[in-house]
Amino acid sequence: MRSGTAKFISGCLLLGFILWPFRVPAQAIDQKLAQAIDQEIEKIRAEMVKVRRFLHMNPELGNHEFETSKLVASKLSSLGLEVKTGVAGTGVVGLLRGALPGPTVAIRADMDALPIQELNTFPYRSLNPGVMHACGHDFHTTIALGVAAVLSAVKDRMRGNVKFIFQPAEEGLPPGEEGGAALMIKGGALDNPPVRAIFALHVWPELQVGEVGYAAGYLMASSDNFIITITGKSAHAARPQEGIDAVVLAAEVITSLQTIVSRAIDPTEPAVITVGKIQGGTKANIIAEKVEMEGTVRTLNDKVREKMPVLMENIIRGLTGSYGASYSFRYEKGTPPVYNHPDLVQAMVPVLENALSPEQVLTVKPQMVAEDFALLAERVPAFMYLLGVRSPGQASAAPLHSPYFNPDERAIPVGIKAMCHLVLSALDQQASLKGTDRQAAIR
Ligand SMILES: [Zn+2]
Ligand SMILES: [Zn+2]
Repeated sequence: MRSGTAKFISGCLLLGFILWPFRVPAQAIDQKLAQAIDQEIEKIRAEMVKVRRFLHMNPELGNHEFETSKLVASKLSSLGLEVKTGVAGTGVVGLLRGALPGPTVAIRADMDALPIQELNTFPYRSLNPGVMHACGHDFHTTIALGVAAVLSAVKDRMRGNVKFIFQPAEEGLPPGEEGGAALMIKGGALDNPPVRAIFALHVWPELQVGEVGYAAGYLMASSDNFIITITGKSAHAARPQEGIDAVVLAAEVITSLQTIVSRAIDPTEPAVITVGKIQGGTKANIIAEKVEMEGTVRTLNDKVREKMPVLMENIIRGLTGSYGASYSFRYEKGTPPVYNHPDLVQAMVPVLENALSPEQVLTVKPQMVAEDFALLAERVPAFMYLLGVRSPGQASAAPLHSPYFNPDERAIPVGIKAMCHLVLSALDQQASLKGTDRQAAIR
């Protein structure tokens, strides 16, 4: 999925060009406008909770977000946005045009749920057996709809346009299917009008309601998958000298793979190799002929990422060779790391501090989870931040992807407010400077 090094470097240069108008002192949005936003949020607060609960009760898996997509499209249409449906299957793109001329910035929300049986007992728990909004994408969709409602109410004072990108299938796809951010890009979600900067948030149970977390540069890791098959020779379990034991060999391979992170990678560079699934053998009293292992690799650095399959295969080849066994190794590149453009972050953090309060805007360490927002962030200067959803006073909250995940709904208005301030300020900062024509020419 990821392009080559030369392309990557030229992409970085292009990003630099597109981004340069953000190298200006931070601009908080006009105070009257900020007050109007607060008032509009108050008006829709109860309705947004209803929308979130409806989505939570009716979760849909990736590429099957049919009802969610219909709801999103109808809400956007009723607000008077230009709405495009059927982008990347169930994706929806809405365009809100401001009264004043200016560029276009985008907000991305994902809509899919996970194949998890919800174990919460509140009345609005999932009605769809085995499917749950356990990653908070019901929040993301609701917040983006809330931003659309608020900005529609103040569009007379808005310079430029805001594009709302509602994306299906962030959580991965069934084998052979296309979808998610990659297909949204192919479907033209970032074009016509071209998007100059893109924003997204992810709910975060480690942060409290009212707080947001950010990182300049890498926020989340790349995610690649691998399958290793080791083939030895079966024999009677009591006569190992006549066989080649694929189980013993697999155990050595798993242990040795961990030495890549501890011995072959710069210790200051985060990396994870996890074998998450292992299957082999047929019976307790037979030496196993075959073992298959599947796993994932996470990194925050393209160079480390490029090295991983080579280092892994060296170990697998060496160990299987010494036992006289054979192997197959498949390494599939998934999503790149989520990269927040440092200049955009630098320009936007004071805006967040102004919208919330400086104490509530916290730096966070990069996380080794992955997000396909990374693909959008490869194309356009991007800023993804984390929205606190842990209830105040609660020591810890159920993590993402837990059947007990239960984000605090008081975070919804916080997310709407933060996002409104960010996009309006980004539009102002771009519109207040010459140079947008040049960017248009570059794109
Ligand atoms: Zn998730
Ligand atoms: Zn998610």
